[in-house]
Amino acid sequence: EYAYGSVEKVEVNGDLKQVITDSETYEAPVVIIATGSQYRKLGVEGEEKYAGRGVSYCAVCDGAFFKDQPLAVIGGGDSAVEEGVYLAKLASNVNIIHRRDQLRAQKILQERAFTNDKIDFTWDTVVTKINGDGQKVTSVSTHNKKTGEDGELKVNGVFIYVGVIALTEPFKELGITDEQGWIKTDELMRTSLPGVYAIGDVRAKELRQITTAVGDGSIAGQQAFNYLESLKD
Ligand SMILES: Cc1cc2nc3c(=O)[nH]c(=O)nc-3n(C[C@H](O)[C@H](O)[C@H](O)COP(=O)(O)OP(=O)(O)OC[C@H]3O[C@@H](n4cnc5c(N)ncnc54)[C@H](O)[C@@H]3O)c2cc1C
Repeated sequence: EYAYGSVEKVEVNGDLKQVITDSETYEAPVVIIATGSQYRKLGVEGEEKYAGRGVSYCAVCDGAFFKDQPLAVIGGGDSAVEEGVYLAKLASNVNIIHRRDQLRAQKILQERAFTNDKIDFTWDTVVTKINGDGQKVTSVSTHNKKTGEDGELKVNGVFIYVGVIALTEPFKELGITDEQGWIKTDELMRTSLPGVYAIGDVRAKELRQITTAVGDGSIAGQQAFNYLESLKD
């Protein structure tokens, strides 16, 4: 049975769970949460217009489109630096634009980036606009927060790493999320609530990819079956 709707809340009353959507309330002994995550947007002009046409949030997915071309990476955490180093293998050069004067990324990643001669850094700077020719990205407009100077950096691609948000708002009262909002599970996808499982990107995990999401799903499916069987005892 399939149903469509946006889940607003889940309530757990012992063995029975209620899934409250914008139109209906469903009851079931098992709930498997797979609401995923969302890349945090920069929120500047041009970001939406050029999404998929130069603006990307995934280096492994889109990096190969920019072979020998200049790229900007926005952010200063682990993802920005790790992906910047990856992109430098493909691009002509990578400029990491960070709003502070130092990186938040782990030291080992920082060293890899600082010693890579294809990577430059633009410090204390925010991107204020992503520019293009109507079809694809051609540059980014920048603003230096310390000097107040505005600038423009010619690039063909912009990779944005300013955070990822777990889509766990409907479950926040269940007490199953960590400080960042990801759902905590054990390796059998069980949350701390019996009969409530979480799989895929929404889970607190290391690698958020299709392969790991599918693996999580298989495990949760089997666990849910076992749980339903145990209710019959
Ligand atoms: C641009 C991009 C490129 C990627 N490229 C690759 C790649 O090349 N290879 C790879 O392995 N992975 C890639 N990924 C990652 C991959 O897409 C995810 O790991 C995978 O989709 C996770 O699956 P999921 O089911 O956990 O979440 P999702 O696929 O995100 O599905 C979650 C679903 O839940 C729905 N939802 C959310 N909240 C609610 C709610 N309250 N009520 C009802 N429904 C809700 C959403 O609308 C969505 O349909 C990419 C991701 C992005 C964004």
